Amino acid sequence: MIVKKDASLRGIDEIMVLILPKIEKLYEAIGKEFVITSGTDGTHSIGSLHYKGLAVDIRLPYLTPNANKPFVEMIKLVLNIDFDVVLEKDHIHIEYDPK
Ligand SMILES: [Zn+2]
Repeated sequence: MIVKKDASLRGIDEIMVLILPKIEKLYEAIGKEFVITSGTDGTHSIGSLHYKGLAVDIRLPYLTPNANKPFVEMIKLVLNIDFDVVLEKDHIHIEYDPK
């Protein structure tokens, strides 16, 4: 697992830390590097769970948007329903948002 140089996991909630190894295994399975591109750093929308340490952004494993869709579904399968996994244009956003 690599944390991008300008990304910070300071203050990240333990519940997010616990899911990272599960996601890393998926990246390993497809031979891609698992890179966290944003945690509690950066500029996110107002009220974003990033500021509460309850969200991370991770690098897309594949270049084309459609190629990433099955991978995002895989992540959803290994996480429970309290996590939202969103395929954004240039990253995957994962947040803990219990219903
Ligand atoms: Zn995000």
